[in-house]
Amino acid sequence: MAAKNRETLQPKINPNTNRTRLIAGNWKMNMNHLEAIQAVQKLHYLLRPADYGFAEICVIAPFVDLRSLQLLIDSDSMGFSLGAQNCYFESKGAFTGEISAPMLAKLGVRYVLVGHSERRTIFGEDDSIVAKKLKAVFESQMIPILCVGETEQEKQAGRSSEVLTRQVQIAIEAVPDELLKRIVIAYEPVWAIGTGLAATDVDASWGASHIRSVIRSLRSAAVSDSAHILYGGSVNAGNARSLIDSESVDGLLVGGASLDPEEFARIVQS
Ligand code: PEP
Repeated sequence: MAAKNRETLQPKINPNTNRTRLIAGNWKMNMNHLEAIQAVQKLHYLLRPADYGFAEICVIAPFVDLRSLQLLIDSDSMGFSLGAQNCYFESKGAFTGEISAPMLAKLGVRYVLVGHSERRTIFGEDDSIVAKKLKAVFESQMIPILCVGETEQEKQAGRSSEVLTRQVQIAIEAVPDELLKRIVIAYEPVWAIGTGLAATDVDASWGASHIRSVIRSLRSAAVSDSAHILYGGSVNAGNARSLIDSESVDGLLVGGASLDPEEFARIVQS
């Protein structure tokens, strides 16, 4: 693959939405720093300059990989953005085992996942913790990827829209409009995460449109039109195209399938 120059690696505006697209791979608790370096090198090799024009491509790696990936991406002028999977809401102090937003910002991290369903269900993060983390990420000049979505039970009970509304409303309450315009929200129905049962493009479009309408009603059309809304949940190379083409969807949050650079590259290229 020919050397790529950073200017050619900027995502173009999607003329249908006036927003750029984002495709982010959430590695979850996988890949040590050596595996991470190999995976990103392989992805860089597989992608063509035009792929970076289609969407911003982000790797959301475990904390221990971030420094190695920062150095690799910088030294080889790669076109990837770096993401982290979590952070604590305090900036420093006696919080053994936690990582703060300012620490991540120093590592060149651009995006931080906030409120991923695995954090909510396994680690007991409720909407008020999610709101504090979201604020902390913005205060460190990074961009939160707020994850929201209903469980299977909530969907069956007809509560999907109520759940999404509550999660978005509480999370963004303390965020001023100017910052909120930069937010990324991932509609990740919990029943689709890691199950192989992706939402249909109709479901994805419904979720993204609902989230946008919640922001519009709480703030303004200008804020909701600026926000980026992704779909996440069992995305693979076979369904990526129809999901990213769904109305109101600006990109994809990819979990399991992002661990294989070939599959992740196929998703971007699909
Ligand atoms: C995720 O973890 O955010 C996710 C969408 O996972 P998967 O693609 O494996 O369903």
